[in-house]
Amino acid sequence: MRARSSCKRGLAAASIAALVAIAACATAPSGPPREAGPFRAADLVEIVKLDPTILLDIRYATSNNFTGRPVYRQARAFLQRPAAEALVRVNRSLHAKGYGLLVFDGYRPWSVTKLFWDVTAPDKREKGFVANPAKGSKHNRGAAVDLSMYDLSTGREVGMPSTYDEFSDRAGPDYKGGTDDERARRNLLRAEMEKEGFTVDPGEWWHFNYRGWERYPILDIPFEKIRGQTTVSRDSVAR
Ligand SMILES: [Zn+2]
Repeated sequence: MRARSSCKRGLAAASIAALVAIAACATAPSGPPREAGPFRAADLVEIVKLDPTILLDIRYATSNNFTGRPVYRQARAFLQRPAAEALVRVNRSLHAKGYGLLVFDGYRPWSVTKLFWDVTAPDKREKGFVANPAKGSKHNRGAAVDLSMYDLSTGREVGMPSTYDEFSDRAGPDYKGGTDDERARRNLLRAEMEKEGFTVDPGEWWHFNYRGWERYPILDIPFEKIRGQTTVSRDSVAR
């Protein structure tokens, strides 16, 4: 998720009526962008079904996110199969170093990206704080993941130079501040992810794109309609 702290503050102060008004004025499209393709067949898999030692903290299923309300009905995380399998390999490698992966978000239905856009003030949109639904997000393709690490000995989230969705200079993957331990953990996560084909976002240490993300279509399927680990039919692909 791209958002900034000022955005969060603004939203906290906004009334529901104001949010509705912003949504009504939104210039965003009513449906996902049409892309020519060709695309690989979508094959969204639930991460924890491949490896239950990957833990979840799905903030968008709670009020603890920048919108101040749940935007997912279920606290689940999916990725396209090759990305999910790569994540399992990262998790195994981290286990040898005393850590496990803690996932905040994976596949995100397009309509949620549009909701983020609708509730964000125009000046914040222009600064790139939220993904433009006219282009979609790599999360919509099931090829981006937001995550941190937990300590295997305690099961608790580790400290990083910034918190998740903290949109300040501290969120940058090359930020020089914080403690030595925080930077070392952030750099370890990045190094392990890069070994498996992920690329970190230049502004967010927790956001990683999987190689070949552009070969997957933008989807708008709610979690509850993703059945098991079966291939998503072309009929479900956003057009
Ligand atoms: Zn993200």
